[in-house]
Parts: sequence; C-alpha cells; structure tokens
Amino acid sequence: MLVLGIESSCDETGIALYDTEYGLLAHELYSQVELHALYGGVVPELASRDHIRRLIPLIQATLKKADRQQSDIDGIAYTAGPGLIGALLTGASVARSLAFALNIPAVGVHHMEGHLLAPMLEEQQPEFPFICLLVSGGHSMIIRVDGIGRYKLLGDTLDDAAGEAFDKTAKLLDLGYPGGPRVSNLALQGTTDRYKFPRPMVDRPGLDMSFSGLKTFTLNTWQKAVKENDATEQTKADICRAFELAVADTLAIKCKRALEQEGLNRLVVSGGVSANREIREKLQALMKKRRGEVFFPRLEFCTDNGAMIAYAGAQRLLASEEQGLDFAATPRWSLEELAPISL
Ligand code: ATP
Ligand code: MG
Ligand code: FE
Repeated sequence: MLVLGIESSCDETGIALYDTEYGLLAHELYSQVELHALYGGVVPELASRDHIRRLIPLIQATLKKADRQQSDIDGIAYTAGPGLIGALLTGASVARSLAFALNIPAVGVHHMEGHLLAPMLEEQQPEFPFICLLVSGGHSMIIRVDGIGRYKLLGDTLDDAAGEAFDKTAKLLDLGYPGGPRVSNLALQGTTDRYKFPRPMVDRPGLDMSFSGLKTFTLNTWQKAVKENDATEQTKADICRAFELAVADTLAIKCKRALEQEGLNRLVVSGGVSANREIREKLQALMKKRRGEVFFPRLEFCTDNGAMIAYAGAQRLLASEEQGLDFAATPRWSLEELAPISL
C-alpha cells in the first residue's frame, strides 16, 4: 500500500511517500524557519498561508522523486492535531480533497504518535513494549507503549516542554530562533565545570518534569555575568553547556526511573529534542550500563517531517481505519485517547 503523508501542524511542511512493503520511498521538507525568525517565534497566520503555498508543489516533487504518479497512491495520512489550527486545516483540506478526487481513504494522524513511531522508519525497529521519552517543542512526556495506539502517560512536564526551554534559553542569550540547535552548538565550546544548574524535580518521586526553572536560572546567571562585566561569548557558551547538561541529566534520571518502575529495558527517544547530541549520548550510556536497548529516529526525523505521519497513518490504514469525507483539526488532543490497533 502506497501512503502519502502530509505534515503541517506548525512551521514545517513535510511530505512523504511510504510503501508498506518497500518502506520510505521519498520525502520532502520545507521549513518556514526564516519566515518566522524575524519575529522570534512562529506566527500562526503566516504559517497557514505558507503551508498553502508549499503543499501542492511539495507533493508533486515527492511523487517525482519516488518516480510515482498520483494514481499510484492508495491512501493519505495527514496530521489532524495537536498543533496550530490554521496550519492543521491547510494540510487536512488538501489531504481530504486529494483523497476524494482519487477515491482513496484518508486518515487523520496524531502528530505525537507520528513522533513516537518515527524510530520505526529505521532498519532496527524497537519491539513492544517500551518506554518512550517524547521531547519536542510543545511536549515532554514519558509514555509506556504496549503497541500502536496503546499509550499510557507516566510523566509529563508541569510547565515548559524541553524544546521550549531550549528555545527560551536561546532567546534570553540572544542566540536567535529556533533555540535548540543554537544552544547545543554553542555548548560545544562551553566548559563543563564553571556553572552547575539544578536537576529539576529529581529529588521528588514520580516521573513528572519541570523545565521553566532552568530558564530562570539561565536568566539569573547571565544577568550576574553582565553585572560583573563578564558577558562574553565564553560565558554564554558555559551557560549553554550547563543548561544542556542539566536537561540531559534530568531526562536520563527520569527515564531510568520509568524503566525501573515498569520493569522494562527498552527505551525509545523521539521528538525534536532527541536530535540533541548530549541527550543522545547520556541516554545511550544509561542503556549501555543497564544492558538494555535504546532507539532514536535519524536526525532529520527527530523534528517535524512527513515520513513519520505517512508511517503512523499507514499502520492505521492497514488496520482498515479511515474517516469519512468531513474532516476536523484537533488543536488539543491527548495520546491516550487514541484507539489501539492490532495488525
Ligand atoms: P510538538 O511536536 O510538541 O508539537 P514541534 O513540532 O514544534 O512541537 P519538534 O519539531 O518535534 O517540535 O521539535 C522542535 C523543537 O526541538 C524545538 O523546540 C527545537 O529547539 C528543539 N530542537 C531541535 N534540535 C535540537 C537540538 N539539537 N537540541 C535541543 N533541542 C533541539
Ligand atoms: Mg518546527
Ligand atoms: Fe513536532
């Protein structure tokens, strides 16, 4: 079955063609990062308008790259939520209309299920059950995964998402947008022992997280450096390093706790923040020590992309799920509401 995947929940237009027999055939991504950089964050209305411009040409480019015709497509998967309502609606309406014209089924995919299943696009796929650390721009969750659509939320952030904390920290240090990659690049030049940031909520039981305090810690540390005439690039790099280490350590401590609590030894890490080098290394070291397994998406599939939506939708289409001609975008939507599927 050849499935066209369409992602448009935020500021990336992602298109992919996934074949349930041959795997991923082609994918294309257009990032609106430059469009929003001027404003220091995503402007929803600009995002919707740009998705409208990009969707059809990207679908055509992806078909061409895969050497396939529109008529070869057997089903369409689009991101139905969570995300920006206008941005979601552009992808949903293109998906629905195309499915109607081609007389094929379409299915709305949960964006976070897409992220969660992204490691399934790799050669080595995790078996169920596993613990998933899902860390992105809008979410930070620890989930027990017993199958597709069988998700139990074990821990969540009480305030900022991990990616949001990276983005806000970058803004405080005037590093620009998006923050994650910039903080992490500058951290490479940072010294490890100059600042020690707290590891939030690790001394409390449970799996919930909190990242907004780290942002405040960054602000205070930077303001102190400014006052002391030490507002140098090196100081910034040292702060980035301390911040990144604090996030990585905290996530590792919480993952270890979740694995112990659930009696599992398989970890999946996905979402934009899973592209972070320090976090990948820390979690790899943790799983090596535990003689367990850890899985990540390839770097380009950590952040938003069409391939993960095509994959997640394909599983639901294989299970004969499809939705009627009407469509809706669901800006807020819990993973636990999804229906389990058995293949
Ligand atoms: P959500 O998936 O929760 O709806 P989103 O789609 O905006 O949010 P993603 O595309 O998964 O989020 O990821 C983007 C986030 O990942 C941003 O916050 C970005 O700063 C962060 N990020 C990307 N690369 C890195 C990195 N190397 N290190 C840390 N953070 C990163
Ligand atoms: Mg994005
Ligand atoms: Fe995302």
